[in-house]
Amino acid sequence: MLQADLVEKKADELPGVNTRTSTTKLSKAKAIVFKIALVTALLISASTYFVNRPFNSFPVCTIKDGVDLCPQADELVPEKNGVIWESLQHTYSTEVFKARAIDWLGGAVRIPTETFDDMGDVTEPVWEKFLPLHDYLKDSFPLLHSNLELTKVNTYGLLYVWEGSDSALKPLLLAAHQDVVPVLETTINEWQHPPFSGYFDGESLWGRGSCDDKSGLIGIMSAIESMLENGFKPTRTVVIASGFDEEVSGVRGASSLATEMLDRFGENAFTMLLDEGSGYGEVYGRVIAVPGIAEKGTLNVRIKVTSPGGHSSLPPPHTSIGMLAELLVQYETNPFEVHLTRGSPTYRNAQCMAQHAPGVSSSLKEHMLRAEHCDGALRAAEQELFKNRAFMSLVGTTQAIDLVDGGVKVNALPEQAWAIVNHRISTESSIAATKVRDIELLESLANDFNLSYTAFGSHISNGDAPSYGTLTLSTVFGDGLEPAPVTPSGKDAAPFQLLSGTIKAAYNSHRNISGSDAIIVSPGIMSGNTGGVLSMYRISFGNDWDTDTRFYWKLTDHIFRYGHLGGAGGGSLPSGVHTVNEAISINSFVEMIRFYTTLVLNVDESSLP
Ligand SMILES: [Zn+2]
Repeated sequence: MLQADLVEKKADELPGVNTRTSTTKLSKAKAIVFKIALVTALLISASTYFVNRPFNSFPVCTIKDGVDLCPQADELVPEKNGVIWESLQHTYSTEVFKARAIDWLGGAVRIPTETFDDMGDVTEPVWEKFLPLHDYLKDSFPLLHSNLELTKVNTYGLLYVWEGSDSALKPLLLAAHQDVVPVLETTINEWQHPPFSGYFDGESLWGRGSCDDKSGLIGIMSAIESMLENGFKPTRTVVIASGFDEEVSGVRGASSLATEMLDRFGENAFTMLLDEGSGYGEVYGRVIAVPGIAEKGTLNVRIKVTSPGGHSSLPPPHTSIGMLAELLVQYETNPFEVHLTRGSPTYRNAQCMAQHAPGVSSSLKEHMLRAEHCDGALRAAEQELFKNRAFMSLVGTTQAIDLVDGGVKVNALPEQAWAIVNHRISTESSIAATKVRDIELLESLANDFNLSYTAFGSHISNGDAPSYGTLTLSTVFGDGLEPAPVTPSGKDAAPFQLLSGTIKAAYNSHRNISGSDAIIVSPGIMSGNTGGVLSMYRISFGNDWDTDTRFYWKLTDHIFRYGHLGGAGGGSLPSGVHTVNEAISINSFVEMIRFYTTLVLNVDESSLP
């Protein structure tokens, strides 16, 4: 397609800035102005492009033949450990094994391990609910418990070490949490089968934790028990870290486990880490697995306004509440600017979809193919992708005003009012950048209202000048969390490639097929502390916290949030994660066990450090 055609096409493809749904003339007018501006900008950039470039440099903005936006690893089947792998693949196909898998997972689901925000220190008796689970694990996985060394960390954290024969190799770290989100008393009647029944209906196993994350914990243990039954002895050490308060922040479990592992193994001591996260599913006509290679950060900002009190019969033009309201409007009329950045996890994901998913529109495909070298195409791709608000939210820093309070009495002027804005910070940004933007956003209003302005401990306005009241920005609910370091996922990133090949081998083996095309692997991003992973336009899981991996950043550069659960991110399987009717298909659970088995064997024989 010629550049000029592309420009023409752009005008038609613009998302319309809500013109279709908006009823106001103003927003229609804005949209038209915006369209004209964009088309003009595209025309200018196109004409400058043609004027300034010699003809032979034209290809930078065209599609190069054979360009591979999303190179795929080959299926990776264990070789050195091939005999054990083959034997286990056979075992996993049997009805006898399926029955064992139902028992193993069902028993764990039947032990309620709900965590709540207000449970206090681990010395509180309420935490003893984890003891029956520990006993259950010991009874159910006898070989694992006689071959692996178990340390209990901060009483309920489980740290298992399966010593390998070559201590020069960095261990593999597998993580899964023991706790589950609470079942609301008022929703119990909505469950098709009671939430802690572990009921198996012939296809799916029901109950809280059946997906999140007892399938992870029991899946790992089932794989290791089965490998031990087949006489497997690891060359490389395998470590399992299991926290017990992931759903309420991980400050007692994963945090203590991290300290223990740093003590014992040191920084950057693990070859890679796999924790819960996304799975795979069919999206836009292609089965795609999306290991999470990044997580957004978070920051909660309190905006507090104070002004003189008094009787409401003699009001000033603006009360604290009125001023706060204007400050909040200032937020909502100025969302963060969001751009798709080359090389970012969301960009990489869009590239993979463009390359491999037949259902992606041809225009988006073309934009993505050109976007690598052409800014205009990158912006065009962005326009199309951002029609989906969920995708846009994953790319950029977001803001949501979630809490507000002010005033005490109907006839008293409010001396103070405050609100809290929750930010989810883009993987391309930081806490500092988010703070700077918030500070600047409110500066002119603080000035207009003559408020003495302090933000995050620094005086922004002239501290000595007389003022009518104060405006204070501060962090609440902790100091915030930086976006996670992005795990390397390029062609040369050996751990990502090994994981990709493993996903393909497990997927294929479960279906008795071969080849490297049946399932595509794309890097993805956890949806900022919401435990979800982007698979293009869909979000799968939805925690309120990010995964326990936030405590494990120092242990390895290669952190993956992935559970090989079919259906997550696009399928039609029941999941009910964090809501009613959580259930897992036992077929999917057995496939997860295959995946953990294949991963341990592949890492064991790999040339990774
Ligand atoms: Zn979880």
